[in-house]
Amino acid sequence: MRTSSSSMNRRAFLGAGAATGALLGAAGGLTLATSAQAAAPLAGKPLVGAMRRKVGDFEVTALLDGYLDVEKGLVIGYDDAEAKRLRDAAFIEGEAVRIPVNAFLINTGDKLVLGDAGTSSALGPTLGHLTEPLAAAGVTPDQIDAILITHMHPDHLFGVLDGEGNKVFPNAELLLPEADKAFWYDDAIMGGAPEQMRAFFEGARRAADAYQDRQTLFSGDSEIVSGVRPLALPGHTPGHHGFVIDSNGETLIIAGDILHMAPYQFANPDWGIAFDVDSAQATATRKKFFDQMATDRVMFAGSHAPFPGFGYVGREGNAYRFVAADWPYSL
Ligand SMILES: [Zn+2]
Repeated sequence: MRTSSSSMNRRAFLGAGAATGALLGAAGGLTLATSAQAAAPLAGKPLVGAMRRKVGDFEVTALLDGYLDVEKGLVIGYDDAEAKRLRDAAFIEGEAVRIPVNAFLINTGDKLVLGDAGTSSALGPTLGHLTEPLAAAGVTPDQIDAILITHMHPDHLFGVLDGEGNKVFPNAELLLPEADKAFWYDDAIMGGAPEQMRAFFEGARRAADAYQDRQTLFSGDSEIVSGVRPLALPGHTPGHHGFVIDSNGETLIIAGDILHMAPYQFANPDWGIAFDVDSAQATATRKKFFDQMATDRVMFAGSHAPFPGFGYVGREGNAYRFVAADWPYSL
């Protein structure tokens, strides 16, 4: 009896034979032995992460700052059996879910605007790489005109300063959600927060203070940069916002931390993360957003959606699924 693996091997063998034949036919005498000479030293690290797409007359480039491994102890609503089922379905080994940290460069044609700024050195060496994909996109930090911050957490805001506390973006105006600044600057709230959260408050204040001379607080939904308006998505933090980009009939919603763990939260939108300031509100906001996105079929970009983070929310019964956006540019 033929097993499925032997039939796979047979197909693979036949495929390789056909490919070799085609090569020989095309190159006339090229042998397989020569391909060994193409070996090069292994790089031992990933290429920088940058992916550009067009949104109307704008270009939006996803910039990978790095990644975080989310252990199960950080997941609110976690259920062992369900989590294991979802990790198996997503081909994840072990119990942690690795999530990217994406920021987004918006080129409006006359302004270069960052949507979030990465982490800098705040959370270790797997993060803080934002300026590498930025350079790959052909942009230097001093060219950035404005930085829109979804919320004042380390992986979104702290990258405005380098490891020594100097401004990374010397010519940029920093736009912060007013409700988040009020929260992170509230001494009473900081005093009552767990000890390990103090660094979040102190770092947020340090980053914002450094840009005090060019800083704007936003609320409401009026345009803050030409073609870009804020969208309140409260819960993860009180002032957590997305950004709606509208250009020439096309829309992209940068949705910040509407989700953290794609393998878990599309199937279970009521699961949260320990960093949610108001877990119930974060869940309600996520469910409303997913429902709206699945109905409107608008593209969104998530800070922690699989890199480059561009995709759609598909409906699946009472749950949802992430649908990655297709290849962004026609060549
Ligand atoms: Zn985040």
